[in-house]
Amino acid sequence: MATPALSGLPKEIEERVVHDPIARKIMLVIFKAGTVRPKIGLETGIRYPPFEDLPQWTKVIEDLIRLKLVERNVADRLIHCPRCGSIHVSSRLLCPWCKSFNIEPTFIIQHTLCGYIDTESKFRDPNTGQLICPKCKRPLRKEGLDYVVIGKVFECLNCKRKTNKPLIAFYCRNCTHQFDYLNASYEPVYEYTLTPLGQKLVVSGALHKEEIINALKELGLIVESPGKEKGRSGIDHTFDIIARTPQGRVLAIDFAEEKDPSLAITSRIPKALDTEVDRYVIILPSGAFEASMMVQMKNVAVLELTEPYLVERIVSIAKELLKKEAKEVEVTPEVPEASEEEFFGLGGELNIPEEELLSVSEEKKEEEKKEEGKKEEKGEEKKEEALLGSDEFFGM
Ligand SMILES: [Zn+2]
Ligand SMILES: [Zn+2]
Ligand SMILES: [Zn+2]
Repeated sequence: MATPALSGLPKEIEERVVHDPIARKIMLVIFKAGTVRPKIGLETGIRYPPFEDLPQWTKVIEDLIRLKLVERNVADRLIHCPRCGSIHVSSRLLCPWCKSFNIEPTFIIQHTLCGYIDTESKFRDPNTGQLICPKCKRPLRKEGLDYVVIGKVFECLNCKRKTNKPLIAFYCRNCTHQFDYLNASYEPVYEYTLTPLGQKLVVSGALHKEEIINALKELGLIVESPGKEKGRSGIDHTFDIIARTPQGRVLAIDFAEEKDPSLAITSRIPKALDTEVDRYVIILPSGAFEASMMVQMKNVAVLELTEPYLVERIVSIAKELLKKEAKEVEVTPEVPEASEEEFFGLGGELNIPEEELLSVSEEKKEEEKKEEGKKEEKGEEKKEEALLGSDEFFGM
C-alpha cells in the first residue's frame, strides 16, 4: 500500500511543519536520536546541542508539541538563582542561630566507662590525634567496647553552638546571591521525543517529499506524487513519487514505513520488476545499508531517511538518467573548429569523453568491462603469438 498523500495531512501540520525547514529539521533530529536529552553543565547551563544551530528552535518546538508531533518529558529539575537565573548554584548548610555557613559536622561520643558525653572534637587530642576522655583522661580504645557514637551534629565554629538541623541555603556562584529553598526557582528540564503521530509523519516521507519534488522539477522532470506506473501485468502500481524525463525515462521513489528493512524491500521489488522503471529509490527509516546488500538489482537504490544528503543523492540519480538521454540525443556530436583540433592531433577524442568522465560508477563499470574484454582479447592474441612462436621454433 502506498503512503498517504500529502493532502491527507491536517492543514495546520502541512503549513506549520511540512513547509518550515526548521520544524522539519527538528523532527528529523529527534527521529534520528530517538530522544533528545539535555546536556547540563553548571557553568554552561542547559543545552541541547543537536538543536543549537536551528534558529528559534524553542519556539518552533512549542508548536510541534501543540500539534502533538513532539512530546516532552521531565528529565530533571534544577535550582535556578531567583535573581540571575543561573543554575551555577551551590548548597550551603547554615547555623540556625547565627546563620554562619562555617559549621562542621561532628560525632557525639559517649565514654561508656565514665558516662561522659561530648563531641568528637572534645575527645580528640590536638597533638596526637588520639581520642582521650576529657573527664576521666583515659584513652578510648574501640567503638562499641569502651565508647559509642550516639549521633552526628553540626558544630558552629562562629557561635560554638551545636545543631542536628542546620538550615539549607543556596548560593549563586554567578551573582553571589544567597537564597533559601522557598525563594529558589526549581524548574523542570525536558527531553524530547516524537509522538507516534510524529513518527508516522517522518517515515511517511511527508517532510522530504516537497524538497525532493522541487529538486526534480528544477531538473526539468515531470513529477507526480503519488504517481502511477503501469506494469506489464496490466496492474497499475502506485509510487510515492514518479518523475519522468522529457524522453520518458522513469525515476520512482517510495518511502517505506515498515520497521523491518527486509520486508520493506521484498514487498516492493515485484513492483520494480513488473514496471521496469529505469530507477527505483526505496527510502527506509533505518537499516538502509544492510538492506541495500540484499538488493541485487542495478536500477534499485536503497537510501536512508535521515542521511544528510538524501535529496542530493536522489538528484544525482535523476541527473544520471538525464545524462544517458542527452548522450542518445547527441548521436553525432558537432565538432567545432575541427580543423584546429585536427591540427593539434586531438581529433574527435576531445568531444566524446567529457560526459562519460562525469557520469557515474555504472558507466565506468561498463567501460572497465570493455577494457577487461580488450585485455582478454589482447591476452589471447599474445597466446596465439606465443603458440606461433613455438611453432616457428619447432619449424612447423
Ligand atoms: Zn544569580
Ligand atoms: Zn571518661
Ligand atoms: Zn552559629
